[in-house]
Amino acid sequence: MINSVKLSAGFRRSFIREVLLPLVAILLLTFIGAGTALFLGTTLTNQEAKAQQQRMIEASFSQSLAEHQRQLRSLSRWEPLETHLSTAQADLRWLNDNVGHWLYDMFGHQLIMVLDSDNHPVQAWRNGEPLDAPAADPVVQAVLSSALLRRHTQQEEADFARVEGRAAALAIGDIGRDAAQFRLVGLKFLDDGYLAGLSDRSQLKGLHFSDLSAPPDAPARFLLTSQQGEGVGYINWDPMRPGAQMLRAIGPSTGVAVLVVMLLCFYMVRRLWTSSLNLSQSMLKLGASEAQALHLAFHDVLTGLPNRALVEERLTQALAQATRHEQRVALLLIDLDRFKNINDTHGHHAGDELIIAVAQRLSALVRASDTVGRIGGDEFIVVMSEVDNIGQVQALAQRILDTLSQPFALSGGEVWSGASIGLVLAPKDGLDRLELVRKADIALYEAKSSGRGKYRQFERVMDESIRTRQNIAADLRVALQSYSGLAVWYQPLMDIDGKNMVGVEALLRWDHPTRGAIAPGDFIAIAEETGLIIPLGEWVLREACLTQQRFPDLMVAVNVSPVQFRATGFVARMTEIVRESGGDPQRIELEITEGVLIEDEHEARAIIIALREAGFRIALDDFGTGYSSLNYLSTFPVDKIKIDRSFTQSLGVADNSVAIIESVVKLGHAMGLTVTAEGVETPGQMSALADAGCNQLQGYLFSKAIPFERLGDWMR
Ligand code: C2E
Ligand code: CA
Ligand code: CA
Repeated sequence: MINSVKLSAGFRRSFIREVLLPLVAILLLTFIGAGTALFLGTTLTNQEAKAQQQRMIEASFSQSLAEHQRQLRSLSRWEPLETHLSTAQADLRWLNDNVGHWLYDMFGHQLIMVLDSDNHPVQAWRNGEPLDAPAADPVVQAVLSSALLRRHTQQEEADFARVEGRAAALAIGDIGRDAAQFRLVGLKFLDDGYLAGLSDRSQLKGLHFSDLSAPPDAPARFLLTSQQGEGVGYINWDPMRPGAQMLRAIGPSTGVAVLVVMLLCFYMVRRLWTSSLNLSQSMLKLGASEAQALHLAFHDVLTGLPNRALVEERLTQALAQATRHEQRVALLLIDLDRFKNINDTHGHHAGDELIIAVAQRLSALVRASDTVGRIGGDEFIVVMSEVDNIGQVQALAQRILDTLSQPFALSGGEVWSGASIGLVLAPKDGLDRLELVRKADIALYEAKSSGRGKYRQFERVMDESIRTRQNIAADLRVALQSYSGLAVWYQPLMDIDGKNMVGVEALLRWDHPTRGAIAPGDFIAIAEETGLIIPLGEWVLREACLTQQRFPDLMVAVNVSPVQFRATGFVARMTEIVRESGGDPQRIELEITEGVLIEDEHEARAIIIALREAGFRIALDDFGTGYSSLNYLSTFPVDKIKIDRSFTQSLGVADNSVAIIESVVKLGHAMGLTVTAEGVETPGQMSALADAGCNQLQGYLFSKAIPFERLGDWMR
């Protein structure tokens, strides 16, 4: 949940940065660009149109000026006028009709003058009416002082001029062709009536004049000037604006288009958002399940600790680093001592709980740079990198042992497990991963076989002994196929006087083809590890039964290994063998060790009871070496205890040995048991044991184990 919130915040940010912002920028740029282009286009079109309209107005003005001149010329070049003026007395009526009236009526010339060669008005007409005193007329005066008249040199000329504050078209022409005595002047005010006509022709609206000093009162105007550059007046108009028109035409549709584009963009962004969100979520899910799969591939499901594969990888890395930096790496292989037992008695659930608790204790003990892994049912491993000295590793190993020997509170109750540790140190014990693990395994084996609850550091001799053991196991397997080299010898058990034999103990002997005689102490353990002890032990029992057939009253003691004892169907097998081989269980004493009682008290008791019901006698062998479980004795229905030979041999050496033996004998007798002492080598030991109250004796003082063939002789 938290992850998905984080995701969507991060996703939103990156979506805005990578999609939304660029899109908005593109849209903005597009709109600004299009808007600017539209604006510039409109303005330029408008300006261009205005300039064109101005050129048109100017053209029509110069056209009307030329027309004005042509109108005047039509009279000034008229011969009858020259003729008429040249005749001494001018006929005013004729002039009125043919000049003043005619030009006004015909062409609207508002002022017409006939000037003599000194520019004195001979005759003048205002709006077609003759003036009585032309020189006194203000308009006439204004025209006479105008630049055009003052500079007039050519035969005819026309120009715009300001007359009495009004704009006017002025034309002048010599009357007659050569050496003119008179000139004709025509004036037309460029008033609004004139402009109205122009407006009609050009379809320009709002055409009107304004005075030079007047402020601009229309959107467009230009200054009409005379040829001399003198301002005549402003011509104003409402310009046609094709750009604005176009804008008006396309504006709404453009707006709609923009709106549609923006809606489309919005829609696309929304779709992109959902699809990218889905994509990134499914990618995240994919990533998570991939990480999960990866985690599963490299971690133990029960404890979450690194599994064998990951530990191996870490170890390889640590070794590579150690080689580069000349550092040391330690490997601790940890095995729980009583896991199988706890699993069997309390159930798998308790076993799982124990494993989890062990994992937690281990994890709490190591440094962050170390790796704790689970590599098997109850096997753990610690990879310690950057080790400065062996003391550091030993301290950790001891801490682990101490921690794991504390009781574990499981849901089914408290249990004690304990552990054994094998440790190796790289590069001293090698730099190859497999080699190191193998050696740690050997050291662990040594720790276990030397009594558990210990750590052992690998030593070269261990390796050799392991190799020897493996060879021996292989040879033993071969020997068992035909029992070649194997034999059962018998050591007598004597009564307390040492005079009468009360029975024999069957003891295995192995004459190895190349190594010679190998002591049981050296191969029994190997047979136990490999499981070969089961067929081997059964064979000994069978041999003992055969011996019994030969010596019917002989009591034979047979050693039973804990491995046999715990194997399923043990009691049935024993019974069956004795029946098959014609033995008598009443005279067969099975020697078991204290260890089997401890391992699983409840089951051990059941087996012992079953064996006794089948007729077997039970002896507790090597008493005093294991757990000194004097208290247990009362709860196990055995027939005999055999005091270990270490006690016998401590007689006269250790001060309290007599006292110990005495108390054991007392306890044994209190429970109605026979007490046998083993390893009696001297008469002194014999008498001390007799004094202590022992019932039977066994030892080299009487005899070593002898082959079956010599047993008859010996008994006699
Ligand atoms: P154990 O059951 O305690 O057998 C007695 C051992 O003490 C025998 O050693 C015997 O030779 C030795 N011994 C007897 N008297 C003396 C003495 O006065 N001084 C000394 N120093 N030793 C004496 P062995 O035959 O080497 O057997 C060693 C162990 O091997 C036995 O100890 C027994 O635990 C085991 N073992 C022998 N045969 C069998 C067998 O058939 N089955 C099983 N499961 N274990 C066997
Ligand atoms: Ca024995
Ligand atoms: Ca013994």
